Amino acid sequence: MGKRHDERDGPRPPAEAHATVRHLIMTELEQGPVSARDISGMVGIPEKEVAGHLEHIRQTLHHDGRRLIVHPAECSRCGFVFDKRERLTRPSRCPVCKSESLHAPLFSLARP
Ligand SMILES: [Zn+2]
Repeated sequence: MGKRHDERDGPRPPAEAHATVRHLIMTELEQGPVSARDISGMVGIPEKEVAGHLEHIRQTLHHDGRRLIVHPAECSRCGFVFDKRERLTRPSRCPVCKSESLHAPLFSLARP
């Protein structure tokens, strides 16, 4: 069939790209729940940048009635749930048993 066209050559302007990235993230959230790693892979940005976009999305969503739902991280060893955590980044270790084997938080969008 037709040849594959790849437009990802060259530097991407970060300021303008942000709006597009957030739109793509919103699309994934609507089909969620998804983890930051899922979003990173699907949208094509580093996993550590995902939380910043989610923060921005969480703030702007208040205006149109939808809500960012956070399914908290959970320790896979003792079952501790990080449900008091405000930050959207992935915790590094469990405060109870010190295990670093954690289920990442998942994110989705609640419809109005
Ligand atoms: Zn634990």
